[in-house]
Amino acid sequence: MVKAVYFTVVVDEAEKNDTKNQVEQMEQDTDDTLEGRILLVEDNAVNQLITGKMLEKLGIQYEIAGNGQEAIQCWENNSYDIILMDMHMPIMDGVSATEEIRSREKVRNTTWIIALTANVLQEDIRKCFNVGMNDYLSKPLEIETLKLMLLKWLSSKRQDGSEQKNSLQA
Ligand SMILES: [Mg+2]
Repeated sequence: MVKAVYFTVVVDEAEKNDTKNQVEQMEQDTDDTLEGRILLVEDNAVNQLITGKMLEKLGIQYEIAGNGQEAIQCWENNSYDIILMDMHMPIMDGVSATEEIRSREKVRNTTWIIALTANVLQEDIRKCFNVGMNDYLSKPLEIETLKLMLLKWLSSKRQDGSEQKNSLQA
């Protein structure tokens, strides 16, 4: 009888440790979240939703603009660390919006702009860099790739916010 009780206690302790490990793991995952303010420029409602969920999971604050023109308005009225810029959108595409933002900036690269593109043709990528985008992500996005990209540029800002950076030149 005593042994049985002892055994039960041991199991409970093991379960407790298990739960504790799980909680610690979750806390570690939480520590892993990023800090930053992002503008997601994307015309596709499904992509808005999925990318939004990923950003939420990464602890990122974000706003959504549905086309390049909206993106410029948001950028004029707010401060973002990074703009995730879809290439193909109605009204104004990502290349034109980036060109406009870069021409209005007092200090170049106050906001990092990362292209979102399903098309990874060298010529299109070059077009992105030519208008002043800093990097690109290919669609469909994956949370791990997105996270690494955000980490890269959020830490660039902290270290040398005013310096020009361009993956193509790096
Ligand atoms: Mg699009």
